Amino acid sequence: MRKKPDKLVLENIKKLFLLAKKEVRERPWLAKRYVADARKIAKRQNLSLKKYRRKFCRKCGIYFVPGENCRVRISKGKISIKCLYCNNYVRYKFEKSKRR
Ligand SMILES: [Zn+2]
Repeated sequence: MRKKPDKLVLENIKKLFLLAKKEVRERPWLAKRYVADARKIAKRQNLSLKKYRRKFCRKCGIYFVPGENCRVRISKGKISIKCLYCNNYVRYKFEKSKRR
């Protein structure tokens, strides 16, 4: 049987991302730290941050706010995000959301 991820851990990660979102405009360094903490927890618990993958820059760890600190473009089924902090480019295949 596969072990389910701890609910509390998932809650904490969610909270950290919410905090990062809140702080990114005023205190981007703090937002970075929240993201870094969330990633650390996920790594320790062997969790994937798939859900949050597109919400932060993998290079510098800043939380993405479209139009603020990143540029998002969608073309030919691909999403490209450019981080305006470190000029890193991230590309993703466009997947249809399973959310209803
Ligand atoms: Zn970056």
